[in-house]
Amino acid sequence: MNEQYYTTNYARIGPFITSFGRKMMAELVLPFKESVIRIQTDSFTCLNDIKCDVSKDIGKLKLEYENKNIIVNHLNKINCSDCNRNIKECIKNGCN
Ligand SMILES: [Zn+2]
Repeated sequence: MNEQYYTTNYARIGPFITSFGRKMMAELVLPFKESVIRIQTDSFTCLNDIKCDVSKDIGKLKLEYENKNIIVNHLNKINCSDCNRNIKECIKNGCN
């Protein structure tokens, strides 16, 4: 009988990588914590302009949208308050 939960031991490092990512995100947003309204695994949403370096390089912060009026309905449903469509669809196709 096989007593192992995983085929290899690599899966055991998963929780440590997740917690490391959460620590990095917490340290990143701490200086402007009053402005942050939402944090996900790899993104955050702010109410105000913040000072941080953005880039399109891997491992850097990427600015997905700014100066948008949004409505946060729940975790995965954020709409543009102008056109009432999903914010990513609004950014991709333009607000109308
Ligand atoms: Zn829109």
